[in-house]
Amino acid sequence: MKKQLNRLIDCSMCPNMCKFSCPVYLATGSETFTPQKKARLILYREKNLLEDNDGFFDTVFQCALCGSCVVNCQYDDFDIRDFITNERSIAFEKGFVPPLMEKVLENFNKFGNPSGERETIDKGEGEIGFFVSCNTFKDKSILSATEKILNKAHVDVKEFGGGDICCGAPLFFAGDMDGFKKKAEQMEKLIKEKGVKRIITNCPTCIKMMKKHYAEVGVSIGVDIVHTLTFTKELIDEGKLSLKKVENKSITYHDPCILAKDLDILEIPRTILKNIGYSLREPAYTGKDAHCCGGKTKVGDRNTRDAISSMRENELKETKAPEYVSACPTCKDVLKSLQMKDIAEIVGEALE
Ligand code: SF4
Ligand code: SF4
Repeated sequence: MKKQLNRLIDCSMCPNMCKFSCPVYLATGSETFTPQKKARLILYREKNLLEDNDGFFDTVFQCALCGSCVVNCQYDDFDIRDFITNERSIAFEKGFVPPLMEKVLENFNKFGNPSGERETIDKGEGEIGFFVSCNTFKDKSILSATEKILNKAHVDVKEFGGGDICCGAPLFFAGDMDGFKKKAEQMEKLIKEKGVKRIITNCPTCIKMMKKHYAEVGVSIGVDIVHTLTFTKELIDEGKLSLKKVENKSITYHDPCILAKDLDILEIPRTILKNIGYSLREPAYTGKDAHCCGGKTKVGDRNTRDAISSMRENELKETKAPEYVSACPTCKDVLKSLQMKDIAEIVGEALE
């Protein structure tokens, strides 16, 4: 921790060049919201030098937790998001909840999920668990395309999701760490009851929560969890899926932050799209340098979140591609004006 605190001091005195990759800075132009200024404010808070706590708390919610500053950081072992999420938990304990997150927390308290979903999915048998994330649950097109892929490859899965089954990410983003720990423990119990050997899911954030942040609150789901994209590639490589080719079609792939920057999955979606016959039109900021879609519940301020989303939509539109695709139900939902598809839908359409 001392080493990390020293890094925070280093960050607060750094030339701050990573700000040119920070979508919050790029979309708002606010110096206060750059990674370096956040580090400095966190240090000031640690030393009790801040008078306006609410103003400070507002700043720590002006972050998409996207990891662009981590990718571009001059230190290999520094992730300012760990400090930002810690400050969010302090803000939550002191009763500070950004307005944009209030409704989400209200839904959680009533329904156990961010969107107020009541229906649940609990079907199938098999050694693989298919966890239907809240955003996949809402997007029936992604859900049915994924089911179609699994059926075609004759993979038996235990499918579950909806209702109060949620990885807890929105609670984590809001700083409600007690609530998040409870959700993590609920998920751990559920997965153990299912008795599966591996979990697949369409949502990169669920994977990061269950792999990294559950461990931080002392919870382990005890099995590996992978993106359905990774699983689909395995099925293709094993010859369990064959795909029709498209001709003369180009497409732009938007890298979801967590999938590209945290989970390092860059080539698999591109390989699948090329195998189907698409030519790829890469945006100027792509791969680990792709800017965030803005998310739904990571940024505490609606104007900032929407400005980030518009910026990313414009960057993608610059490719002038006839079609857009991603591998995250949240990105697809947020970047609506592009009529984006999820890669599961593209694979579903190409199944022979
Ligand atoms: S996150 Fe890294 S590169 Fe960015 S200001 Fe801090 S130390 Fe510098
Ligand atoms: S995680 Fe993303 S939004 Fe937050 S400070 Fe770093 S680059 Fe900016």
